[in-house]
Amino acid sequence: MRTIGVIGGMSWESSLVYYQLINRGTRDRLGPLRSARLLLDSLDFEDIAALQRTGEWQHAGELLAASACRLQAGGADCVVLATNTMHKVADAIIAATPLPFLHIADAVGNAIRNAGMDCILLLGTAFTMEQDFYRRRIADRFGIQCITPSAERRQQVHRIIYDELCAGAIHEASRLTLLETIAEGMAAGATGVILGCTELTLLIQPDNCPVALFDSTALHAAAAVDFALQDETPAVPVH
Ligand code: GLU
Repeated sequence: MRTIGVIGGMSWESSLVYYQLINRGTRDRLGPLRSARLLLDSLDFEDIAALQRTGEWQHAGELLAASACRLQAGGADCVVLATNTMHKVADAIIAATPLPFLHIADAVGNAIRNAGMDCILLLGTAFTMEQDFYRRRIADRFGIQCITPSAERRQQVHRIIYDELCAGAIHEASRLTLLETIAEGMAAGATGVILGCTELTLLIQPDNCPVALFDSTALHAAAAVDFALQDETPAVPVH
């Protein structure tokens, strides 16, 4: 089994979900007592969020590149950056280590393409929704158009992510705001939704949202499991 290296802590609320999903995925594929070989380098999110606010992306990229190097030194076989937003500086990480970098937008784009959809609503931080590093990759590599909510909705979604979900607060009113935002996106022509922030899965799930969801956390974790178990033989059922 290959060792998955995770750059986490952005926020730790979603890193916890990654840890659970990667281990569950490994158990499901290999057997009840199997678990993932995994290294987690967990950063203090305030350090990163402060650099986001001041636009110091290069400095943030250097911190993440250093994290990737620590994972490499620890024996990781790949790098999983457990946040959509910070994929803005993916190139800094890729340049810092020869380890395969499992890009979150590729995991998402593959799933949307397999579902045969070509117009999708992107929810995430303002950085992810408004800048083009994420949408462009999904368009260029997968031929999928991402549409985004209105400016007012984008501001609401961004606030819910940073002020509530990253801080561990789950509010029903915010779930309703997100569901309204999703309904508006569907009315505008989208056929599904990218939960393009790794905390959105804490509020929106298939059992409370009736549209096709592409959960970046779940899809990225599944891609990590696929990578780690490439050479493993699936569990043989015990009779
Ligand atoms: N985890 C979030 C994301 O997937 C937001 C936190 C961050 O800015 O990294 O974009």
